[in-house]
Amino acid sequence: MKQLMYYSMYTTYMKKIIFGIFAHPDDEAFGPSGTLLLETRQGTELHLVTLTAGENGTNPDGHERLGDVRLEEWKKAGALIGATSLHHFGYEDGTLNNLNHIEITQRIESLVIETIGSQSDIEIEMMSIDLNGVTGHIDHIVASRSAVLAFYRLKAKGYPLTRIRLSCVPYSQLPNPNTSFVFMEAGRSDEEIDEVVDASIVLPEIYQIIRAHHTQRDDGQRHIENLGDGVAINSFFILT
Ligand SMILES: [Zn+2]
Repeated sequence: MKQLMYYSMYTTYMKKIIFGIFAHPDDEAFGPSGTLLLETRQGTELHLVTLTAGENGTNPDGHERLGDVRLEEWKKAGALIGATSLHHFGYEDGTLNNLNHIEITQRIESLVIETIGSQSDIEIEMMSIDLNGVTGHIDHIVASRSAVLAFYRLKAKGYPLTRIRLSCVPYSQLPNPNTSFVFMEAGRSDEEIDEVVDASIVLPEIYQIIRAHHTQRDDGQRHIENLGDGVAINSFFILT
């Protein structure tokens, strides 16, 4: 662990904009929602992307159009996080591939360019999840790799991108690969983790954000039971 950042000590004079790129409507909620909430409370403008509506997720209430319900849940969670805008790219849940990866990257680039318009004196950060997809889900891998590719391309074009933070699981939480569903690598070592954000001061809000995804409540509850107050501790590795 190289850096521990306390946001109360963090001041910035330039307007900061974060683009959060995720695959499913609940990814940021179950992942780095605490960090994103601290950011928006510090005045950062946040734009969220979900590549899919998560229509093939668990459906305990038997909704006929689960994707529509999940997008509504995502909007509620996005409002709780303080996002300025939310963008659903409309890909089919569970089917992302290399061709999508190329197209998604271009769409992220366009979104960033259109959103910032002619603003100067800004800094742009991106956020996504570990390049290994954290849970190993292919959609997560495509989201992460597309975000990183868009980050480097925009930077090469001269846009003021500072860093991309990739939310990861620390080794202490997952010392062994999880092979119960798809292959999930062991967590990242302390040396690989560049930043740990402690968002405990917004813990009740994080629970609210997780629970906004009512259809995914079994996953949400399991997540809360596994991590307890640790849901407020977000680990990242950072690419610049
Ligand atoms: Zn997901």
